[in-house]
Amino acid sequence: MSNRDFNTFKTHNTMERGIPKFSPYINGAMVEPSSGKFFQRFDPGDKGNLIGLVGDGSRDVGAAVDAAREAFDGDRSGWVSDYRLRARVLLRAAEIVRERAWELARLESLFTGKTIRTSRQGDIPRTAEMLEFYAGAADKLLGYSQQLRNGDVTILLRQPVGVVAAITPWNFPLLILARQTAPALAAGCTVVAKPATLTPATALELAKILEKAGAPPGVFNVVTGPGEIIGAELLKSPKVDVVNFTGETTTGKMIMQNAAPSLKRVVLELGGKNPNIVFEDADLEQVANAVTYGAFANNGESCAAGSRLLVHRNVRKQLVEMVSKRIRGLRVGYQLEETSDLGPLVSQQQMEKVLEYVAAAFSEGLNVVTGGRRLSGGVFDRGFYVEPTLVDETPPTSKLFREEIFGPVLTVTEFEDEDEAVALANATVYGLAAGVWSNDSRKAMRVAERVKAGTVWVNTYYTLPVEQPWGGFKESGIGRNNTVLALEHYLEWKGVYIDTQKGPMRPYYGIVLGQ
Ligand code: NAD
Repeated sequence: MSNRDFNTFKTHNTMERGIPKFSPYINGAMVEPSSGKFFQRFDPGDKGNLIGLVGDGSRDVGAAVDAAREAFDGDRSGWVSDYRLRARVLLRAAEIVRERAWELARLESLFTGKTIRTSRQGDIPRTAEMLEFYAGAADKLLGYSQQLRNGDVTILLRQPVGVVAAITPWNFPLLILARQTAPALAAGCTVVAKPATLTPATALELAKILEKAGAPPGVFNVVTGPGEIIGAELLKSPKVDVVNFTGETTTGKMIMQNAAPSLKRVVLELGGKNPNIVFEDADLEQVANAVTYGAFANNGESCAAGSRLLVHRNVRKQLVEMVSKRIRGLRVGYQLEETSDLGPLVSQQQMEKVLEYVAAAFSEGLNVVTGGRRLSGGVFDRGFYVEPTLVDETPPTSKLFREEIFGPVLTVTEFEDEDEAVALANATVYGLAAGVWSNDSRKAMRVAERVKAGTVWVNTYYTLPVEQPWGGFKESGIGRNNTVLALEHYLEWKGVYIDTQKGPMRPYYGIVLGQ
């Protein structure tokens, strides 16, 4: 995080009365951060506008973990044992999210820079669906049993693992937090959430919503503030059992190292550099729409962004023209304006990172067909607005082809045949998602099987309901979120062996006790 995006100050210096505070939420209440420090968060779309004071909870990790631990170990509230309570809480929380959809959408967009339509039509309803899905799972965590040859019985119980640390990024603050924690809560675990410093608001709203829905104190806690310190503390704590992290691949590698000494379970959802592979027999009108959507949804600040267009040489020129036309029609504007298709990027640091890649496109002599500049004039001068950009004829040696840009930049590379398409698709360290476009279902299936990605969309792109598993191959992560698969991270299998035989001896005792 760059200093340009934040100023730190002590509470007693604050002149900003009436600015909302986003502080640690521990044991059912928001508390003043023990450090006494806050970060100022400014509106990414209008940077003179102070939108929040984010409490530096670096010294509050221990208290949050203890609250989660006590809520789990003591089970005084019945959270761990009462699956119906958990189902009711998650279902009610989903209802509250829907009831407060507009307000939550506004808050999410204000802090992230994503457009209000993205929050309202995407993040918020999908968060409610996430909570509903796992509400339905809470009373179906079935174990099984087996009668053995000798008549004894083994019973496999499923028990919640314990305390879960959920470390989340800034691009989908509420949705990703719900994705990581709804299955954990359904399983009977308790949670300490660590939202990204830039976007803590809706994590705290989720804590309040869960409490209102009936979650006992200590079940869901939030620690706001810098990741390097708070994340490290969470990983060090022997009282945390699982860490579910979504963020950059480099941070994910650190998480894994830091989780090793206490052997925590680790789930990692990391970066992506996702290809859309377009064969010449595809429906190009649909492809052009989906490719534009997939690359520029959420301002391109998405791990799932279809940021590489791989297209058959016979249709490249035509498709580039069709996509460029759509890109030129995109309206960039303030994130809370209904008319904006793209908003500002989340921070100055993120904007500079994206602009560096665009500068590299120019210096590498690539063909920047449209976009390529920071926008200026009016509100653009007051925020972090970048033109949606298309770079044609990008070779696989270019850093634009290989590295995750995490902004509104789409590259185009042509291929000659199926083998080359697959080789190009797999030519990065990532393996999160891919799109395959063809009217030949056999070819589409062959390619889907050969592409190294956790999700492959065929003749569509970037639709991600909770029923679809989500996670990466290679350096895009470990484990899967969404679906019933996600429950596995939060459950232990316990085998209980019951002896049903009579008498003091068993055949195997004889190995030691003799006959
Ligand atoms: P980031 O790695 O910088 O931060 C993610 C979280 O980790 C934040 O809460 C941050 O405060 C915390 N953190 C930072 N340093 C830490 C440390 N040393 N120990 C523990 N925690 C630490 O990522 P970001 O910039 O917030 O998000 C963008 C990245 O997230 C992109 O790479 C994107 O691809 C990835 N992402 C992946 C998915 C997915 O599902 N695979 C989804 C969204 C975002």
